[in-house]
Amino acid sequence: MVAPKVEQRARRIHVSGIVQGVGFRPFVYRLAKDMGLKGFVRNTPHGVEIHIEGDGASRSFVERLRGSAPPNARIDRIEVLPDTDQGYADFTIDTTSGGEATVFAPPDLFLCGECFDELFTPSDRRYRYPFINCTNCGPRYTIIRGLPYDRVNTTMKVFRMCPRCDGEYRDPSDRRFHAEPNACPDCGPGVFFTEGGEKVPGGIERAVERLRQGMLLALKGMGGFHLLCDARNARAVERLRDLKQRERKPFALMARDLETVEAVADVTGDEKAVLLSAQRPIVLVRKRTQIEGISPGIPTYGIMLPYTPLHALIMERIPLVVATSANLREGPILKDESEGVRELSDCLLTHNRDIVMRCDDSVLKLAAGRRIFVRRARGFVPEPLGINFEGRNRILSLGGELKNTVSILKDGYIITSQYLGDMKDLGNRQYLEEVIAHFSTLYAFVPDVVTCDLHPDFTTTRMAEGWGKPVVRVQHHMAHVFAVLAEHGLSPEEPFLGVALDGVGYGEDGRIWGGEFFVGGRGMIQRAFHVRYVPQQGGDLATLEPWRMALGYTMDALGKPVRMGVLATVDEKKLTAAGNAIRQGVNSPLTSSVGRLFDAVSAILGIAPLRIDYEAEAAMRLEGIACEDAQEYYPFEVRGDEIDMRETIRAVVEDTAPPAVISGKFHNTIAQVILTVCEASRKRYGIQRVILSGGVFLNAVLLARAITSLREMGVEVYAPEKLSPGDEAISVGQAYFAALNRGEA
Ligand code: ZN
Ligand code: ZN
Ligand code: FE
Repeated sequence: MVAPKVEQRARRIHVSGIVQGVGFRPFVYRLAKDMGLKGFVRNTPHGVEIHIEGDGASRSFVERLRGSAPPNARIDRIEVLPDTDQGYADFTIDTTSGGEATVFAPPDLFLCGECFDELFTPSDRRYRYPFINCTNCGPRYTIIRGLPYDRVNTTMKVFRMCPRCDGEYRDPSDRRFHAEPNACPDCGPGVFFTEGGEKVPGGIERAVERLRQGMLLALKGMGGFHLLCDARNARAVERLRDLKQRERKPFALMARDLETVEAVADVTGDEKAVLLSAQRPIVLVRKRTQIEGISPGIPTYGIMLPYTPLHALIMERIPLVVATSANLREGPILKDESEGVRELSDCLLTHNRDIVMRCDDSVLKLAAGRRIFVRRARGFVPEPLGINFEGRNRILSLGGELKNTVSILKDGYIITSQYLGDMKDLGNRQYLEEVIAHFSTLYAFVPDVVTCDLHPDFTTTRMAEGWGKPVVRVQHHMAHVFAVLAEHGLSPEEPFLGVALDGVGYGEDGRIWGGEFFVGGRGMIQRAFHVRYVPQQGGDLATLEPWRMALGYTMDALGKPVRMGVLATVDEKKLTAAGNAIRQGVNSPLTSSVGRLFDAVSAILGIAPLRIDYEAEAAMRLEGIACEDAQEYYPFEVRGDEIDMRETIRAVVEDTAPPAVISGKFHNTIAQVILTVCEASRKRYGIQRVILSGGVFLNAVLLARAITSLREMGVEVYAPEKLSPGDEAISVGQAYFAALNRGEA
C-alpha cells in the first residue's frame, strides 16, 4: 500500500536572544491565533520553541515574528525546521520549562506606558499601587535567584497571588500572562515609612513632605537605595554632600518628566530618546540653568526620569530631586535596611520586595549621536554579547581594579556584570563575589579558565591565581582593544590599529601605560607606538593632584617647572620637594598615560582643582570648557615608536589665547596624533581598520573629532558603543583575548 502524499506543512521554530521575561510567548500566541495556526509555544533553555501547523503560512509567520516582536525583546537568531503535523486542535502556551540554564536572563525594565496609565486611573484596581508591572515592564535581573525565569525563582515567591492576579497570570490574552512579578494591593508587596525608630506601612505622602521640608530621604528602588533630597534646596544638597563626604562629585537628578528636564538643561532629540528609552539611564545633558551644588565645575547635569511606579508616585508631587546611590564612601550601593542606610538619611521609604542583586543606575552620554557608556548597569545588565566564536572553554574574567566588572564567556556569548567599583574597597570585593556566585547559579557556570590583569598586586590577580584553574593574564590596554573587537564581532585576524588612550594600566615593561598604539592581525598584537614617558611624581598621588603631572610635563618639556595655572597655587615647599624628586628619579615612576596628559594641561591652564574630588575631574573640566570652533592643533613629533608631546606642552604654556580655545586646540592635537599614527601604520602595515578604546574616550569632544577625521581619511573606525570605553570593559577584553588564545595558561 502506498501512503497518501501529505504535504509537510508543520514547522518547528527556534528563537534565541532576549525572549524570556519580555512578553514573548503571549505575543507568539496572539500572532498564531490571528493567523489561524495551531500548535504551541514554550520556553527552552536556549530561548523559545514554537510548533506551528496550518495553511502554508510559515513564511509570513516568521516575518511577523521578526517584524513585530515586543519592544523589549531582542531576537538574535530564528531557525525554522520542517516538522510533522500533529493535528493540534488549538494554539497553546506550554508553561513547562527546564533543562540547563540559558545565557539569557532579562534585564530590569522601566514602568511601561500602559502600567503608567493604570497607575493614575482612579477606577483601576491598581490605582496608585507602587508595584504595578506587566510582561513589558518591571524588575527582572535584580529579583531573580535562578533560571528559568519563573516566579518561584524570584523574590516574589513569598507573595501568593490573589485570585484576580492569578487569573491574569493564567490568561494568555492578558497583558500580565506570566508576568512573574505580577501583584496588586491585595496580594503584593507594600511600602513602609521609617522615621525616628517608628516604622509604618504606606507613607509616600509623608516621605514627599519630608523632602519638601529639606530632609534627606533614603528610598529603596529597584537595584538598591537612593538618597533623595529636593534639588532646589541648596542646604539639603550641602548636607547630603557632608554625609557622603563628597565636595564636588556630580549628583544625579531625577526629574518628573521631559518638561522639567528641559527647564534646567538643553536637551537634543537624541538625548530625549535615550532619556525615554526602556532602560531609563542617567543621561548627561548640557546645563541651561545653574542649580547650586549639583555638579560644580562642569557644564552638564546627569538626569534620569522615573523608572519604577514608586518613583513615579513620588515625582508626581515634587518635580526635581537629587537621586544619588546610597553607599558608604565608594562602596557598593546599599540594598537592605540593615546595611547602614539609616546613618545617611533623616527618614526611609522602603518596601518588602527583596533585592537579590544590587545594581546601580546606568549613566550615558552622547557624542555626535553615538552613545558613550559612563557606567553600564541597570537596564543593560545582563544582556549577553554574541562574539561569533565557539570556543570550548568556559571563561571567568575577573577584570582589573578600578571601575571593575566581571565577565563570563559561555556558548559563544560574553555576559558582563554591572559596574562594581574600585576593588581596593572591601565592600566592592564582596560585591564582586556576590556577582560571581549569582552568575554561577543563574547560568550554571563553572569556569575552565580564569583571566586577570598583568598587574601582580591586584586583588583580582590574586583571586585568579587562587582559583585552581589555568590563568590567562592580559595586558590592560590590549584588553581595552579586545573589548572593542568583541563588541563589534571583529576577528583579530584582519590587520588593525588598536588605540588605547587611558588613565593607568600596568605595562609589559613594568611602567605605567596609557598612551598606546598596537598593531594587530593574524591573531597577534604588538605595541607599535606610545606616548613619550614622563615622570608621574608621587605615583598614585599624582592621579589625585593633577599639578604633579603639570610639573612632570613642564620639567620634561622646558627643563624647569613653570609657575602657572594650578602650579602657581601649590605650596612652595611641596613644589620644590616634588621637583627634586623628579630630578633624582625618586618616587617618580614613568608613565605614557594620556589621561595624565589631560590632567597636566588642565592644571597648566588653571582649570583643574588642587586636589580632585572624583576620578577624571581635571580632564572632565578641560573637556567641559573646550571651544568647539577651534580648528588648529599644536605641534608634536613621532620619532621611531615614540610620540613626543614636548612641543605641545611648550606651545600650551606660551599660548595667550583664552583657556577654552587652548583646550579646543589641545583636543584637536590628540585627534591629530591618532591620525598621524594611523597614517604611519597604513603605510607601514597596510592597516585599514582602527579601534578606539580606553577611558580617555569617555571624552565626547575627543571621540567625535577622532571619528570624524579618521573617516575623512578613509579608514574603518570602531569605537565602544555597547560597553564603556573605560575599565568596565576590561573583563570583556580579557575574556575575548583568552577565548581566541585557546585559554592556554
Ligand atoms: Zn507594564
Ligand atoms: Zn493580587
Ligand atoms: Fe583602562
